[in-house]
Amino acid sequence: MQEEGQRCIICEHYKTEGILILSEYICDACEAEMIRTDATDAKYHFFIHQLKQIWMEKNV
Ligand SMILES: [Zn+2]
Repeated sequence: MQEEGQRCIICEHYKTEGILILSEYICDACEAEMIRTDATDAKYHFFIHQLKQIWMEKNV
């Protein structure tokens, strides 16, 4: 089995539809969810946590 597309940094699934934010790939489903997500929602903190991990990896 071959993985197609790019790996989304949020859900970690391989998708062909998505966008690049800070050169990191986010699938369309997660992007839509990020836009919808209220800042007080727990999911927002999950997204930030995921993004921070990416940034820390890059800054090592
Ligand atoms: Zn995703």
